[in-house]
Amino acid sequence: MSDFLNTKIEFLKGVGPKRAELLNKELQIFTYGDLLQHYPFRHEDRSKVYQIKDLEQEMPMIQLRGKIIHFSLAGEGAKQRLVALFHDGTGEMELLWFQGIKWVRNAIKTQTTYLVFGKPQFFNGRFSIVHPDLEEFNPEEYQNGGLVPVYHLTEKLKKKYVHQKAVAKMNKTLLENALPHIPETLPIELMQEQKLIAKRDALQQIHFPSNYKLLERAKQRLKFEELFFIQLKLLKNQLVKKRTYPGQVFKETKLLNEFYDQHLPFDLTDAQKRVMREIFKDFTSGQQMNRLLQGDVGSGKTIVAFLAMMIAIENGTQACLMAPTEILAEQHFRSLQPFCEQVGITIDLLTGSTRTKVRRVLLGRLENGNLKIVVGTHALIEDVVQFDNLGLCVIDEQHRFGVEQRSKLWKKNVNFYPHVLVMTATPIPRTLAMTLYGDLDVSVIDELPKGRKPIKTAHRYDSARLRVFGFIREEIRKGRQVYMVYPLIEESEKLDLKNVEDGYESVQRAFPEFHIGIVHGQMGAAEKEYEMQRFLKNETQIMVATTVIEVGVNVPNATVMVIENSERFGLSQLHQLRGRVGRGGEQSYCILMTNYKVSKEARTRIDTMVRTTDGFEIADVDLKLRGPGNLMGTQQSGTVDLVIADLAKDGTILQEARKVATEILQEDPDLQNPKNQRIKNHLAQAEKKESQWSRIS
Ligand code: ADP
Ligand code: MG
Repeated sequence: MSDFLNTKIEFLKGVGPKRAELLNKELQIFTYGDLLQHYPFRHEDRSKVYQIKDLEQEMPMIQLRGKIIHFSLAGEGAKQRLVALFHDGTGEMELLWFQGIKWVRNAIKTQTTYLVFGKPQFFNGRFSIVHPDLEEFNPEEYQNGGLVPVYHLTEKLKKKYVHQKAVAKMNKTLLENALPHIPETLPIELMQEQKLIAKRDALQQIHFPSNYKLLERAKQRLKFEELFFIQLKLLKNQLVKKRTYPGQVFKETKLLNEFYDQHLPFDLTDAQKRVMREIFKDFTSGQQMNRLLQGDVGSGKTIVAFLAMMIAIENGTQACLMAPTEILAEQHFRSLQPFCEQVGITIDLLTGSTRTKVRRVLLGRLENGNLKIVVGTHALIEDVVQFDNLGLCVIDEQHRFGVEQRSKLWKKNVNFYPHVLVMTATPIPRTLAMTLYGDLDVSVIDELPKGRKPIKTAHRYDSARLRVFGFIREEIRKGRQVYMVYPLIEESEKLDLKNVEDGYESVQRAFPEFHIGIVHGQMGAAEKEYEMQRFLKNETQIMVATTVIEVGVNVPNATVMVIENSERFGLSQLHQLRGRVGRGGEQSYCILMTNYKVSKEARTRIDTMVRTTDGFEIADVDLKLRGPGNLMGTQQSGTVDLVIADLAKDGTILQEARKVATEILQEDPDLQNPKNQRIKNHLAQAEKKESQWSRIS
């Protein structure tokens, strides 16, 4: 950005130090450039003056021009209102005020021509506008009002008379002088290809559009630019990382082949094979791998991780697998242990509950390199955990770990950063993944192992409980097992929710003939583990649980998932929970229970679950319902702080922006080609601004 745009906002005509301070505090507007980037969130159409005789019901906000004939007060007390009779030569109507009556009465004159703006309502055979926007009409100054910007403002600003018109005025004043100082940031070729208007025009039009069409084009241009530079930065980081961080080369695959031919209990799906090839390519590239493995629940990510770890080990290094919960870590450990025995790889488990003595021995073996694979929880991150030569980190269910934790693991090898494989079953909408993990290579397992039957999902009201229980009984008699999940509530008995213990009791009463287990967050790890093991061995047929079973738990014989008060769960949570069934060859079912009172949004979530099992589709709906920030939690939402683009709506633009950014970097990784000069300049400016920021904050 040029120096002009970096000018402090207080120097703008009509602003001054006091208003500048307000703008700083309330809207984070510090410079001219910031003000220009404070885009209106909508526009009011003042391009046309309507006539009263042409009013119809159900009109949007419109503009009229005329005079007030007289005022009167109507009603009493709280219902008191000021009524102004307004006419424009074609008819009469009422303007109404319920608040600020005195002020309006004093400020507004009869016999003066006004422009009146508002939404007409039809009531008692008559049109009226409540709390209209009034402006004196001055024929000398009047130009077609056009599309008038409406900005996000705070209450505090309005109190200090920094209202819509003031901000619009500031932008107008600024734009009159700023245009020559606004540098174009995109190469001309790119603009032509993408049919984008110039940055200058876009800024002019986004604030004061000539018409709707140009407004759209302005938005398009600014959104593209925003997303393009985010993608370019991510892709560039990725490139830099690849150049800067060499990785250990893993070429040997003898052990892998032996295991593959002799011990692997099933054939890999084509998707699993493809991902293995992608990982292997990284291993032999000489660069550090940073790969995200996305795969829906049950798609078989664990075996892929194991095969990758095996390669790391036969090439003389160690591997670790980090899971978000103890149950999950234990389960990974247990499922990998037999494989490890078959090929003579040492493996152990390290969690918060590992006893001191055992831990000490384990840590020693890690450090001297005798222990090859360690599976664990956050405990793995601690500084006392030292490896002889860590070659591969696998992180399961990434969304639970912060980026910082990830990088702590990397640093556990002083010579080389270990290769990193991040696995996630939380379906991340493609658009969000591109932005959040844009600097990782992405592999996708988009195919379930053969023979899986899609889970059947149904919504049932509590009134149908007896029939649901009947169905459960039938399934158990066929030899199957059942999860019953209750939403978590902490000390909020006021909410009319069955908590998991009440649930446990009522399930026991309903099914005296079966054994029933329970797991919830308040139990110790050993207790939980004991209950999970009983369920796994079919010693209990029904598992009553809270969401602690949400992630990863694998009991293939469980075919029914009943979710109580399912309206209380988020979409991705419901999807995760449902993924606990359908893991064997039998037909599985998911039953979403609710009472009759279900909010509109909850209804959308439930309908989505009933309609589809596609994790990506579900994630997209989730994104639309909740918005990107909420979806990823505050921790990561900073990465998707967008000014104008919306990840839930602008997926197409994002994809295009990423494609273009990729092409440009492929052709010109250091942006040395003169035709990319504008891009280079803009990145440099943005970096400069960022470093100034980090110095301030
Ligand atoms: P997720 O991707 O959800 O972590 P898992 O790795 O736990 O899935 O795999 C789910 C189940 O599918 C496991 O029991 C696993 O052994 C099995 N599985 C994985 N790959 C295949 C395959 N190619 N064919 C058959 N079963 C498989
Ligand atoms: Mg898993």
